[in-house]
Amino acid sequence: MSVRELVVLGTSSAVPTRHRNHNGYLLRWDGEGFLFDPGEGTQRQMLHAGVSAHDVTWICVTHFHGDHCLGVPGVVQRIARDKVNHEVRAAYPASGEIYWRRLRNASAFADTDVITPRPVSGEVVRWPSGPVTLTARPLSHPVQSYGYRVDEPGGRRMLPEELARRGVRGPMIGELQRNGSLTTPDGSTVTLDECSAPRPGQSAAFVMDTRLCDGAFALADGVDLLVIESTFLSDESAMAAQYGHLTAAQAGQIAAACGVRRLVLTHFSERYTTADEPRFVDEVRKSYAGDVVTARDLMRVPVPKRGDYQVQRATK
Ligand SMILES: [Zn+2]
Ligand SMILES: [Zn+2]
Repeated sequence: MSVRELVVLGTSSAVPTRHRNHNGYLLRWDGEGFLFDPGEGTQRQMLHAGVSAHDVTWICVTHFHGDHCLGVPGVVQRIARDKVNHEVRAAYPASGEIYWRRLRNASAFADTDVITPRPVSGEVVRWPSGPVTLTARPLSHPVQSYGYRVDEPGGRRMLPEELARRGVRGPMIGELQRNGSLTTPDGSTVTLDECSAPRPGQSAAFVMDTRLCDGAFALADGVDLLVIESTFLSDESAMAAQYGHLTAAQAGQIAAACGVRRLVLTHFSERYTTADEPRFVDEVRKSYAGDVVTARDLMRVPVPKRGDYQVQRATK
């Protein structure tokens, strides 16, 4: 069965706290595993979360502040030690190449050749990856930062009643899907369009660290799952602006404007505790009525199923 879920490895900005590790997120999508922003301690968090180095097919770094990349050396060396034999592509801002090289080669270890760099520059970059496309777009932060988005292509959903009405059954269904039309035993022509309906692809976006900017909206547009930084509450909005971060209210504005189905808030300042989580939700609720999750370490958040618009709170 295909698995589409976010495994939360860490949720703290700047510094880890007693309850929150530095950032780290694995988006499992069918056979792909996108490891976003492995902060310090990610290797051990993977162990706690039941994530193996073999599950990782991409390492996507938004920017080279330490809370988003200090876990790269441990993850890279674990990939080498565990003899992962599939390609692991690594996307990161090209302007931070010097930091990537240091992190990639941080200590003495028996190296691997499966990790292939994909430095990102320009306004939009897309890579096909298994069943999906990975897209990077620039954000707005004191150092260059890119957000990412995963998109499944749209397809078609077969309509059993229409198939039955036209006498299409068994191997004929596969023939119809392959060829777009077929002639039934009674001599009539049946087309794929008559017996199926469009099925929109699913999508997820990962937005951090950033101010409000066009890239954040473009990445979040229409996604089923948006993982977004909400470092501060609105009473610290001056600090958010100064350091290039979002408030929970701004994260809610993005989710509302983009028609996001499930919103995951994370990258919390160490000034807040879990007792403050309802305040983050309250700010989001001023603009966004959809499903909101305030991320905690080791939480698993499913990508909402198609047509499943019920509010679901993910639990550990
Ligand atoms: Zn950060
Ligand atoms: Zn940052």
